[in-house]
Amino acid sequence: MAQGNLYIISAPSGAGKSSLISALLKDNHKMKVSVSHTTRSPRPGEVEGEHYYFVSVEQFEQLIDNDVFLEYAKVFGGNYYGTSLPMIEKSLAQGIDVFLDIDWQGAQQIREKVPDVKSIFILPPSLVELERRLIGRGQDSEEVILDRMAKAQDEMSHYTEYDYVVVNDDFEQALTDIRHILSAEQLKTRTQSLRYQGLITELLAK
Ligand code: GDP
Ligand code: ADP
Ligand code: 5GP
Repeated sequence: MAQGNLYIISAPSGAGKSSLISALLKDNHKMKVSVSHTTRSPRPGEVEGEHYYFVSVEQFEQLIDNDVFLEYAKVFGGNYYGTSLPMIEKSLAQGIDVFLDIDWQGAQQIREKVPDVKSIFILPPSLVELERRLIGRGQDSEEVILDRMAKAQDEMSHYTEYDYVVVNDDFEQALTDIRHILSAEQLKTRTQSLRYQGLITELLAK
């Protein structure tokens, strides 16, 4: 049966995760990004159900009680962020690769539950550039940017827990690196033997 791969992408805020994932989705490839639930307020231009499902703390806690989340964590400003299971399962079963843009706490929870998840950590080329990007994005207040910069080194210290590391200095190069990771994963023996089951049976027939 076709079965999509599950990928986690983590990075300090502003390193370029969302931009890289959007660019990848434009490739001619069967993939989706999971839409998380969050209790933070929408940024200007963010669309309900596209960037996040924006919910209240009460609604989020109700979803926790109903076991909807594959993982959840408090990330910035005491806000909850969580990945719900139903959409992911449906897409994977249809052979679609699913990307999770989640933090290291969520990544740890998912590795426990889905051992063959593949994970990629994105690093910025420098701390100065990271701050420049957060400011340049122009969507967060100075206080929020300071909070994100303060948490960046803590987030980055978890990079060794990931399968792959990509430095997002030149955007196109970082995108190429991620495309290579996806290609290599698709060429893994386990994936190829499912894909080419018929051929392999034929080649090995006595
Ligand atoms: P960004 O870092 O600028 O993309 O800011 P966001 O507000 O979109 O994300 C805030 C943090 O929450 C990031 O560290 C994300 O990786 C993390 N995050 C987003 N969605 C999820 C999720 O579903 N689960 C977990 N565990 N973390 C998430
Ligand atoms: P994240 O999702 O990790 O918080 P974003 O994708 O929102 O990061 O990127 C943060 C800002 O940096 C955006 O304004 C984006 O356009 C910019 N950016 C991303 N990658 C690069 C790059 N390689 N060079 C310069 N600017 C970048
Ligand atoms: P932002 O507030 O900028 O949208 O997101 C901040 C951080 O939260 C990002 O690093 C993002 O990866 C993380 N994040 C977003 N959604 C989730 C989620 O569902 N679970 C977890 N654990 N982290 C998330």
